[in-house]
Amino acid sequence: RDAVTLTDVRKTYFLGEPVHALDGVNLSIPRGSYTAVMGPSGSGKSTLLNLIGCLDTPTEGTIHINGRDVTDLSNTERTTVRGQEIGFVFQTFNLMPRLTARENVALPLVFQGISRADRRERADDLLYRVGLRGREEHRPNELSGGQRQRVAIARALANDPAIILADEPTGNLDSETGNQIMALFEELNDEGNTVLMVTHERHIAEHAERVVHILDGTVERVEKIDSQRRVE
Ligand code: ADP
Ligand code: ADP
Repeated sequence: RDAVTLTDVRKTYFLGEPVHALDGVNLSIPRGSYTAVMGPSGSGKSTLLNLIGCLDTPTEGTIHINGRDVTDLSNTERTTVRGQEIGFVFQTFNLMPRLTARENVALPLVFQGISRADRRERADDLLYRVGLRGREEHRPNELSGGQRQRVAIARALANDPAIILADEPTGNLDSETGNQIMALFEELNDEGNTVLMVTHERHIAEHAERVVHILDGTVERVEKIDSQRRVE
């Protein structure tokens, strides 16, 4: 079963005249796959991410997440699906500045009715997994950019989502730190996590298994990346 399936998806914005941000997109994201999305500015990448992330609904077509049709859900239902099935990683980390690393990672679990002790244990496991053992009590301003992104990735994993959506996750990092974050995504994908990453950098996209090229709101082509790509 696919983590995500888009069928004949169109997204039209009406600002005076209609803008077809996505114009007939068919795309399957298999479970456990690692996909990069590339395309020029204005081609529809953010719109695609927003639709898969259940932040918005398509004008036409259908979207399935983990086998469930999310196309016509109410805002409340979409919020629930988002909390359970989607992990977001942003260029700017988007951590809560007053919360510790542990509290940031545990936050999504609060809404799932998980006990405080279990949240703490799960958060510490995830921080360990992303290489941040010993940083549980640190606040974001006490961490480097790469460490902040690791906290954000741990938070994205908290609910064991169907898919992790990453929007330019290395965009605010120097190249060495960015490469470490890409290595972490590869490890997480090797462990079975499904990853979809938007990037404008070719060398970042080449860490994925395949690259979906978006142009003018359509999938121009899907490129397979040679599996020999992995360094180390
Ligand atoms: P990308 O992320 O590839 O830069 P976007 O998905 O942001 O592309 O935008 C695709 C097209 O849709 C662009 O023409 C953009 O101006 C338009 N667009 C995106 N979001 C909105 C919106 N909320 N309202 C109106 N137009 C939008
Ligand atoms: P990115 O840097 O990821 O390409 P954008 O700058 O294209 O992001 O868009 C940022 C946000 O603004 C997105 O959520 C997008 O939907 C929205 N947006 C993009 N273009 C427009 C537009 N013309 N009118 C209103 N909102 C827009």
